[in-house]
Amino acid sequence: MSDACHRGIFTISGDLPALEFPPTIDYEPLRGRIWTAADGTYRTIFLEGDHGVVCFDTFYSPGAARSYRGAVHRLFPDKPVHTIVYSHDHLDHTGYALDLAADANVIAHRDCAEVVALRASDGQKPADEVWDGERRTFEIDGVAFELVNPGPTHGTGNVAAHFPDVGILFMVDTVIPGVGYTFFPDWHLASYVKTMRRLESLEWDLFVPGHFWPVDRAGFRENLDYYEFIADAAQRALVEEVDPDDYPQIRAYAEDRYRDSHGRTFRFGEYFPMNLMRAMAHFRTGGWGLEDNTGVPAGTL
Ligand SMILES: [Zn+2]
Repeated sequence: MSDACHRGIFTISGDLPALEFPPTIDYEPLRGRIWTAADGTYRTIFLEGDHGVVCFDTFYSPGAARSYRGAVHRLFPDKPVHTIVYSHDHLDHTGYALDLAADANVIAHRDCAEVVALRASDGQKPADEVWDGERRTFEIDGVAFELVNPGPTHGTGNVAAHFPDVGILFMVDTVIPGVGYTFFPDWHLASYVKTMRRLESLEWDLFVPGHFWPVDRAGFRENLDYYEFIADAAQRALVEEVDPDDYPQIRAYAEDRYRDSHGRTFRFGEYFPMNLMRAMAHFRTGGWGLEDNTGVPAGTL
């Protein structure tokens, strides 16, 4: 282990072997000049430019960022990563640009860039290029894409990448195949579904998520419908006096009540009870902070 390992926001001293570990990052072509890279759980995209590569996100550790760089390099050994686009502020997706490509130009939405600057996490490069508002078109090194901020969804300044020419929409930590992701960390549930549905007005037929595998428009809708379902289920559980702080009880309740209807959903047994507990916390507390309470942006995208 070297002193050079970026440490995120860890405060303990000594080596951080789990952060140094280089996972296997695999890749495959999507459409046009768009590729996707994944380790089996996390997923992102990168673009082949005329002279270099545009990477979205960095993966979740210094080791994973270096594996990502290695995967891109195997495909395009003569094309350096010159641009990194941040999907949102979270370290498990964008925390290690300095390990992926220290000299790359980092693009982020203003809301994301502000959090990144304030956090000052070791390895998360501050944005070099900041954009604001709802939509912005970029043309970089022969590739074009649009970044779209539909409003508060998950994390801060979380944006979709839209490729209208090839019908792809990429967005991280929002729609994910199956049930919702774990305990909905930093999801802004109050207006989440309505804000996400704004993206349905864009031209695309393939949605690439930040975890697991791509889905079509029906899969996208199905996932948002599930969030509405879990919101109702959480209210019912509270009304039926399920203890919102008793995870074993919530898990037993979910098994008993929803195994028949949702048991075949991907990772039901792990995620459904976590989703339910989190949604119960939302209805009990009223959601958290400004992002949960600013409402859905007006108008269409
Ligand atoms: Zn996130």
